[in-house]
Amino acid sequence: MTINVKGVTVRFGGVVALKDVSIQLERGRVQGVIGPNGSGKSTLFNAITGMVKPSAGSVSVDGVALDTLPPHRRINLGLARTFQTPRFDPHITVHEAVMCGFYPVHRAGMLGAMFRLPQAAKEENGFRRRCDEILREMKLDDYRDLRMSELPMGRVRLVEVARALANDPKYLLLDEPAAGLAQDEQSMLTSEVRRLAKQGVGVLLVEHNFRMVRELVEQVLVLKEGVRLIEGTPESVSRDPAFVEAYLGSAGK
Ligand code: ADP
Ligand code: MG
Repeated sequence: MTINVKGVTVRFGGVVALKDVSIQLERGRVQGVIGPNGSGKSTLFNAITGMVKPSAGSVSVDGVALDTLPPHRRINLGLARTFQTPRFDPHITVHEAVMCGFYPVHRAGMLGAMFRLPQAAKEENGFRRRCDEILREMKLDDYRDLRMSELPMGRVRLVEVARALANDPKYLLLDEPAAGLAQDEQSMLTSEVRRLAKQGVGVLLVEHNFRMVRELVEQVLVLKEGVRLIEGTPESVSRDPAFVEAYLGSAGK
Protein backbone atom coordinates (compact mmCIF):
# COMPACT_ATOMS: atom_id res chain seq x y z
CA MET A 1 0.00 0.00 0.00
CA THR A 2 2.05 2.85 -1.33
CA ILE A 3 2.01 6.10 -3.23
CA ASN A 4 4.77 5.77 -5.74
CA VAL A 5 6.05 8.90 -7.46
CA LYS A 6 8.58 7.97 -10.12
CA GLY A 7 10.77 10.40 -12.00
CA VAL A 8 8.14 13.15 -12.11
CA THR A 9 8.82 16.34 -14.05
CA VAL A 10 6.37 19.26 -14.00
CA ARG A 11 6.77 22.32 -16.21
CA PHE A 12 4.94 25.63 -16.16
CA GLY A 13 5.84 27.18 -19.49
CA GLY A 14 9.57 27.74 -19.26
CA VAL A 15 9.77 27.00 -15.53
CA VAL A 16 10.69 23.48 -14.51
CA ALA A 17 8.97 23.27 -11.12
CA LEU A 18 9.95 19.63 -10.52
CA LYS A 19 12.60 17.64 -12.27
CA ASP A 20 12.83 13.87 -12.19
CA VAL A 21 11.62 13.58 -8.59
CA SER A 22 10.81 10.23 -7.01
CA ILE A 23 9.32 9.55 -3.62
CA GLN A 24 7.48 6.72 -1.92
CA LEU A 25 4.90 7.03 0.78
CA GLU A 26 3.81 3.92 2.64
CA ARG A 27 0.70 3.69 4.73
CA GLY A 28 1.43 4.09 8.42
CA ARG A 29 4.55 6.17 7.79
CA VAL A 30 5.28 9.88 7.89
CA GLN A 31 7.54 11.04 5.07
CA GLY A 32 8.92 14.58 5.12
CA VAL A 33 9.59 16.97 2.26
CA ILE A 34 11.46 20.19 2.88
CA GLY A 35 13.16 22.82 0.78
CA PRO A 36 13.36 26.59 0.33
CA ASN A 37 10.40 28.50 -1.12
CA GLY A 38 9.83 27.73 -4.78
CA SER A 39 11.60 24.36 -4.61
CA GLY A 40 8.55 22.45 -5.88
CA LYS A 41 7.01 21.06 -2.67
CA SER A 42 3.44 22.18 -3.36
CA THR A 43 3.84 21.16 -7.00
CA LEU A 44 4.74 17.66 -5.81
CA PHE A 45 1.44 17.60 -3.88
CA ASN A 46 -0.41 18.84 -6.95
CA ALA A 47 1.16 16.12 -9.07
CA ILE A 48 0.10 13.46 -6.54
CA THR A 49 -3.47 14.73 -6.29
CA GLY A 50 -3.73 15.16 -10.06
CA MET A 51 -4.06 18.96 -9.97
CA VAL A 52 -1.14 19.32 -12.35
CA LYS A 53 -0.12 16.97 -15.10
CA PRO A 54 3.50 15.84 -15.11
CA SER A 55 5.27 16.07 -18.45
CA ALA A 56 7.31 13.00 -17.52
CA GLY A 57 7.22 10.27 -14.90
CA SER A 58 4.34 8.58 -13.15
CA VAL A 59 2.30 8.63 -9.97
CA SER A 60 0.54 5.51 -8.74
CA VAL A 61 -1.57 4.94 -5.65
CA ASP A 62 -1.76 1.35 -4.38
CA GLY A 63 -0.60 0.21 -7.80
CA VAL A 64 -3.18 2.23 -9.78
CA ALA A 65 -1.60 4.69 -12.19
CA LEU A 66 -3.08 8.14 -11.64
CA ASP A 67 -3.05 9.23 -15.27
CA THR A 68 -5.44 6.42 -16.19
CA LEU A 69 -8.10 7.85 -13.83
CA PRO A 70 -10.41 10.80 -14.47
CA PRO A 71 -10.28 13.39 -11.64
CA HIS A 72 -13.63 12.39 -10.09
CA ARG A 73 -12.39 8.80 -9.66
CA ARG A 74 -9.19 9.92 -7.94
CA ILE A 75 -11.09 10.82 -4.82
CA ASN A 76 -11.77 7.11 -4.32
CA LEU A 77 -8.06 6.47 -3.98
CA GLY A 78 -8.24 7.72 -0.40
CA LEU A 79 -6.08 10.82 -0.86
CA ALA A 80 -6.70 13.93 1.18
CA ARG A 81 -4.68 17.10 1.32
CA THR A 82 -4.50 20.45 2.98
CA PHE A 83 -3.55 23.62 1.16
CA GLN A 84 -0.70 25.90 2.07
CA THR A 85 -3.20 28.77 2.04
CA PRO A 86 -6.50 27.45 3.41
CA ARG A 87 -9.51 28.93 1.60
CA PHE A 88 -12.68 28.92 3.58
CA ASP A 89 -15.81 30.95 3.22
CA PRO A 90 -15.29 33.34 6.17
CA HIS A 91 -19.02 33.24 7.03
CA ILE A 92 -19.34 29.51 7.65
CA THR A 93 -18.85 28.00 11.09
CA VAL A 94 -16.09 25.58 12.07
CA HIS A 95 -18.66 22.79 12.18
CA GLU A 96 -19.89 23.60 8.67
CA ALA A 97 -16.31 23.82 7.36
CA VAL A 98 -15.52 20.31 8.59
CA MET A 99 -18.87 18.99 7.33
CA CYS A 100 -17.85 20.15 3.82
CA GLY A 101 -15.13 17.51 3.93
CA PHE A 102 -17.68 14.70 3.83
CA TYR A 103 -19.31 15.56 0.57
CA PRO A 104 -16.78 14.10 -1.88
CA VAL A 105 -17.71 10.67 -0.48
CA HIS A 106 -21.42 11.40 -0.34
CA ARG A 107 -22.92 8.29 -1.89
CA ALA A 108 -26.59 9.24 -1.85
CA GLY A 109 -25.64 12.20 -4.04
CA MET A 110 -26.75 15.79 -4.35
CA LEU A 111 -30.17 14.95 -5.76
CA GLY A 112 -30.92 12.63 -2.85
CA ALA A 113 -29.81 15.27 -0.38
CA MET A 114 -32.06 17.84 -2.03
CA PHE A 115 -35.10 15.61 -1.68
CA ARG A 116 -34.04 14.30 1.75
CA LEU A 117 -34.28 10.67 0.65
CA PRO A 118 -34.02 8.29 3.62
CA GLN A 119 -30.61 7.04 2.50
CA ALA A 120 -29.30 10.61 2.32
CA ALA A 121 -30.69 11.46 5.76
CA LYS A 122 -29.04 8.38 7.27
CA GLU A 123 -25.74 9.23 5.66
CA GLU A 124 -26.00 12.81 6.88
CA ASN A 125 -26.47 11.60 10.47
CA GLY A 126 -23.37 9.43 10.17
CA PHE A 127 -21.40 12.42 8.90
CA ARG A 128 -22.59 14.55 11.81
CA ARG A 129 -21.48 11.96 14.35
CA ARG A 130 -18.08 11.55 12.71
CA CYS A 131 -17.73 15.33 12.43
CA ASP A 132 -18.29 15.69 16.19
CA GLU A 133 -15.66 13.00 16.79
CA ILE A 134 -13.10 14.76 14.59
CA LEU A 135 -13.80 18.11 16.28
CA ARG A 136 -13.17 16.47 19.65
CA GLU A 137 -9.98 14.73 18.48
CA MET A 138 -8.63 18.00 17.12
CA LYS A 139 -9.72 19.89 20.24
CA LEU A 140 -11.87 22.14 18.11
CA ASP A 141 -15.20 21.47 19.80
CA ASP A 142 -15.04 24.71 21.79
CA TYR A 143 -14.79 26.56 18.47
CA ARG A 144 -17.50 24.63 16.67
CA ASP A 145 -20.02 27.46 16.30
CA LEU A 146 -17.52 30.25 15.64
CA ARG A 147 -17.28 31.62 12.13
CA MET A 148 -14.08 30.91 10.21
CA SER A 149 -13.36 34.68 10.12
CA GLU A 150 -13.30 34.71 13.94
CA LEU A 151 -10.54 32.10 14.24
CA PRO A 152 -6.84 32.78 14.66
CA MET A 153 -4.71 31.40 11.78
CA GLY A 154 -3.45 28.47 13.85
CA ARG A 155 -6.99 27.19 14.35
CA VAL A 156 -7.86 27.76 10.69
CA ARG A 157 -5.05 25.37 9.78
CA LEU A 158 -6.34 22.81 12.26
CA VAL A 159 -9.82 23.09 10.72
CA GLU A 160 -8.19 22.47 7.34
CA VAL A 161 -6.66 19.25 8.71
CA ALA A 162 -9.99 18.29 10.34
CA ARG A 163 -11.78 18.74 7.04
CA ALA A 164 -9.24 16.50 5.28
CA LEU A 165 -9.87 13.80 7.91
CA ALA A 166 -13.58 13.76 7.11
CA ASN A 167 -12.71 11.91 3.94
CA ASP A 168 -11.26 9.07 6.07
CA PRO A 169 -8.07 9.18 4.02
CA LYS A 170 -5.55 6.40 3.52
CA TYR A 171 -3.01 9.05 2.61
CA LEU A 172 -2.87 12.58 3.96
CA LEU A 173 -0.79 15.30 2.34
CA LEU A 174 -0.09 18.24 4.65
CA ASP A 175 1.28 21.40 3.05
CA GLU A 176 3.02 23.48 5.74
CA PRO A 177 0.36 22.73 8.37
CA ALA A 178 2.29 24.29 11.28
CA ALA A 179 2.81 27.72 9.72
CA GLY A 180 1.41 30.30 12.15
CA LEU A 181 0.57 27.74 14.83
CA ALA A 182 1.21 28.54 18.48
CA GLN A 183 3.38 26.12 20.45
CA ASP A 184 0.43 24.24 21.99
CA GLU A 185 -1.26 23.97 18.59
CA GLN A 186 1.95 22.58 17.10
CA SER A 187 2.21 19.92 19.80
CA MET A 188 -1.42 19.03 19.24
CA LEU A 189 -0.88 18.71 15.50
CA THR A 190 2.26 16.63 16.04
CA SER A 191 0.46 14.14 18.25
CA GLU A 192 -2.50 14.04 15.85
CA VAL A 193 -0.19 13.20 12.93
CA ARG A 194 1.50 10.53 15.03
CA ARG A 195 -1.87 9.04 15.95
CA LEU A 196 -3.01 8.98 12.31
CA ALA A 197 0.17 7.22 11.22
CA LYS A 198 -0.34 4.65 13.96
CA GLN A 199 -3.82 4.03 12.56
CA GLY A 200 -2.28 3.27 9.19
CA VAL A 201 -2.56 6.60 7.38
CA GLY A 202 0.43 7.50 5.21
CA VAL A 203 1.33 11.14 5.83
CA LEU A 204 3.37 13.30 3.49
CA LEU A 205 4.51 16.32 5.47
CA VAL A 206 5.81 19.50 3.88
CA GLU A 207 6.98 21.64 6.74
CA HIS A 208 9.48 24.41 7.42
CA ASN A 209 9.38 23.74 11.14
CA PHE A 210 12.34 21.40 11.35
CA ARG A 211 11.63 20.49 14.94
CA MET A 212 8.28 19.09 13.95
CA VAL A 213 9.89 17.25 11.02
CA ARG A 214 12.49 15.81 13.35
CA GLU A 215 9.83 14.64 15.78
CA LEU A 216 7.66 12.97 13.17
CA VAL A 217 9.60 11.62 10.23
CA GLU A 218 12.16 8.92 9.71
CA GLN A 219 13.01 10.00 6.19
CA VAL A 220 13.05 13.45 4.66
CA LEU A 221 13.51 14.50 1.04
CA VAL A 222 15.14 17.87 0.47
CA LEU A 223 14.20 19.66 -2.74
CA LYS A 224 15.97 22.64 -4.21
CA GLU A 225 14.80 24.37 -7.37
CA GLY A 226 12.70 21.36 -8.29
CA VAL A 227 15.51 18.84 -7.93
CA ARG A 228 16.21 16.25 -5.25
CA LEU A 229 19.11 17.65 -3.26
CA ILE A 230 19.50 14.99 -0.57
CA GLU A 231 17.38 12.45 1.27
CA GLY A 232 17.91 10.80 4.64
CA THR A 233 17.05 10.93 8.31
CA PRO A 234 16.42 14.42 9.69
CA GLU A 235 19.70 14.07 11.66
CA SER A 236 21.84 13.20 8.66
CA VAL A 237 20.15 15.78 6.47
CA SER A 238 20.62 18.60 8.98
CA ARG A 239 24.36 17.89 9.10
CA ASP A 240 24.74 17.84 5.32
CA PRO A 241 26.60 20.91 3.98
CA ALA A 242 24.29 20.95 0.92
CA PHE A 243 21.28 21.35 3.23
CA VAL A 244 22.89 24.12 5.24
CA GLU A 245 23.89 25.87 2.01
CA ALA A 246 20.37 25.59 0.55
CA TYR A 247 18.80 27.16 3.62
CA LEU A 248 21.39 29.82 4.29
CA GLY A 249 21.37 30.57 0.56
CA SER A 250 17.61 31.14 0.55
CA ALA A 251 17.66 33.10 3.82
CA GLY A 252 20.34 35.38 2.41
CA LYS A 253 18.21 36.37 -0.59
P1 ADP B 1 7.16 25.43 -2.95
O1 ADP B 1 5.85 24.85 -2.55
O2 ADP B 1 8.33 24.56 -2.66
O3 ADP B 1 7.37 26.81 -2.36
P2 ADP B 1 5.97 25.49 -5.58
O4 ADP B 1 5.75 24.07 -5.91
O5 ADP B 1 4.81 26.29 -5.17
O6 ADP B 1 7.16 25.63 -4.54
O7 ADP B 1 6.60 26.22 -6.85
C1 ADP B 1 7.69 25.68 -7.58
C2 ADP B 1 7.95 26.57 -8.79
O8 ADP B 1 6.88 26.44 -9.72
C3 ADP B 1 8.06 28.06 -8.48
O9 ADP B 1 9.02 28.60 -9.33
C4 ADP B 1 6.67 28.57 -8.79
O10 ADP B 1 6.71 29.92 -9.17
C5 ADP B 1 6.27 27.68 -9.97
N1 ADP B 1 4.80 27.44 -10.04
C6 ADP B 1 4.07 26.75 -9.13
N2 ADP B 1 2.78 26.68 -9.49
C7 ADP B 1 2.68 27.36 -10.67
C8 ADP B 1 1.61 27.64 -11.57
N3 ADP B 1 0.36 27.22 -11.35
N4 ADP B 1 1.90 28.36 -12.68
C9 ADP B 1 3.15 28.79 -12.93
N5 ADP B 1 4.21 28.54 -12.14
C10 ADP B 1 4.00 27.84 -11.02
MG1 MG C 1 4.45 25.48 -1.25
